[in-house]
Amino acid sequence: MKKIAALCLMIAIFLASVCAEDCESAKYYVNGLLLTEMSVEEIYDLEDTLVSALEKLFNGNIEGTAADESKGLYVINTKTKKYHYPWCYSALQIDLSKRCFCNCSFLDASKYKPCGSCNPKLEELQNEGIEIAEQATFVEQATLADYRVNERTLVEMSIPELYDFEDALVSALTVIFNRDMEETAAGELIGCYVINEKTKKFHYPWCYSALQIEPDKRSFERCAPSDLANPSRPDAQNYTPCGSCRPHVNG
Ligand SMILES: [Zn+2]
Ligand SMILES: [Zn+2]
Repeated sequence: MKKIAALCLMIAIFLASVCAEDCESAKYYVNGLLLTEMSVEEIYDLEDTLVSALEKLFNGNIEGTAADESKGLYVINTKTKKYHYPWCYSALQIDLSKRCFCNCSFLDASKYKPCGSCNPKLEELQNEGIEIAEQATFVEQATLADYRVNERTLVEMSIPELYDFEDALVSALTVIFNRDMEETAAGELIGCYVINEKTKKFHYPWCYSALQIEPDKRSFERCAPSDLANPSRPDAQNYTPCGSCRPHVNG
């Protein structure tokens, strides 16, 4: 029975990976390399750069006014009615169908609330409606210019385009993990896991909590989850599976 369940899981994962590759990731080339051909580590570095690009683009888009209001591009979650700075990890996690972009300094305070995490500042709150953002301003930055997506540098893309790219990037991490996964003799799945050396938690590579780990606090481990955490194995390292992505540990 356990074997059949494992087989079904593998088939489901295979089908999901084939679809994700065909539908979303295949069109994204970074420096001429297909996103799904990159290593998990490379994609993580790219993700760090992408968040910096979002911040640079946002700052480039802000125009000072006489009243010293900030004016830039905000991301709105139409379900929770919260608005964010574009580089906020909570904003990056909003479902495609629930997010919209607002290029404004005014939002209806009775309808929209600032995110408690990125704490976006809007000086005056009025209802000016929501507009879909225009092309973001180009910001020159040496370290970001190294990354070319589909023959364009990251900072030349608009914030909505970078959001689409981020979705593809998380799909690519899932595809790579599923493709590289192997089964041990004991029926355990070996893959690449991301460890937070500060909290001592480990994650699947596509987990948003893992993507937020500071580069100097994270490490990558190619192993079975029970090598990282297993109460019945004294030789296992003392890490805890993330409560959000829940990497499966065989008891
Ligand atoms: Zn936020
Ligand atoms: Zn996680």
